[in-house]
Amino acid sequence: MDDILSKEIKEMADMEFECSCGKQHKIEMKHIYVGEGVYIKILDVVKEILPSKILLVSDNNTYEVLGKDVKSIIDEAGYRTKNIILSSQGDLVPDERAIGRILVEVDDETELIVAVGSGSINDISRMVSARTKIPYVIIGTAPSMDGYASTVSPLIIDGAKVTYPGTHPYAIIADTNIMKNAPFEMICAGFGDILGKYTALSDWMLSHKKNDEYFCYTTEKLVRDAMNKCFDNIEGAVNRDPKAIGYIAEGLILSGIAMTLSDNSRPASGAEHHLSHYWEIDKLSRNKEHPLHGNSVGVGTIISAWIYNELKVEEKYGIEVPTANEIIKLLDCIGAKSSPKTLGIEKELFHRSIIHALEIRPRFTILQYAKNENKLEECADRLTNLFYGE
Ligand SMILES: [Zn+2]
Ligand SMILES: [Zn+2]
Repeated sequence: MDDILSKEIKEMADMEFECSCGKQHKIEMKHIYVGEGVYIKILDVVKEILPSKILLVSDNNTYEVLGKDVKSIIDEAGYRTKNIILSSQGDLVPDERAIGRILVEVDDETELIVAVGSGSINDISRMVSARTKIPYVIIGTAPSMDGYASTVSPLIIDGAKVTYPGTHPYAIIADTNIMKNAPFEMICAGFGDILGKYTALSDWMLSHKKNDEYFCYTTEKLVRDAMNKCFDNIEGAVNRDPKAIGYIAEGLILSGIAMTLSDNSRPASGAEHHLSHYWEIDKLSRNKEHPLHGNSVGVGTIISAWIYNELKVEEKYGIEVPTANEIIKLLDCIGAKSSPKTLGIEKELFHRSIIHALEIRPRFTILQYAKNENKLEECADRLTNLFYGE
């Protein structure tokens, strides 16, 4: 019972156990590989499925970085492949065009999708897999976001962000020799997304204590342990040490697993994510570029922690919450953006987001708590002054 906490990540694949929270937890993914040189494990997965034909999906960048090597080992092993390289001028957008491009290449013989990339490639391939029921494997190229083990696909449809229910990947492969060479901003983003778990867990616990919402201590510990490993190895991440990069990759995958365990996104997403989504949606609606998800989440974490500290919620409810300064220090330490201003969030948008981000979804977080206490407007004013001046 609960011995998931003593397991290595690869042993968690396909695991089912009865938890002290009263739930029977199940992890549907069949394989998780994290480490140096593990991309060749794709051959083990292929040999297990024995597909008549494999659809390979990458974009210009990820094909060069790893996709072509994946293609050549699969070709050499004698399997039939169809290779799609999505063109990305600038950033690849997970929209109806990209999904349609993959869907038209799925034929009756396609029995496996192998996606090589990170956020967008994963979201696109997950959607196609969910619709066609063809399993997909994601071979990650950057430790940039926590969507690898998630089961939803955030897509851009008709120019707006919509999250669709998707499916879990059959296997996740995170080769740290490849990931360590990702653009440093993406490594910072992955770190920021992990940092967000800090306040996500606080929000979950707060709602548990205040509203008696379901809570799983095993899931919480799983996420917290993974998070702490990343904090203890920041220097390694800055130096692109594969081991430290592996901890970030594991933390990101584990946060997806934690969502599966608790059957919702509570352990991975709280007010810091709602703020980040609010900024992203607003920027998208104005056709403006928005920061990487994890970079926004990192800054959202500062805001969330600040409100916790200010309203003295940790003392009142006995919840473990970091201080805003601790969060800023961690972000500075890795070299990530640590204020909404440097992130590119306009003053007016910032102020408005604190008051309205809680409308993103009906979920109790520190923002709702502050609103109930009639303190939200005051927090918005003071935080805006703090970061942007009077
Ligand atoms: Zn549990
Ligand atoms: Zn996230």
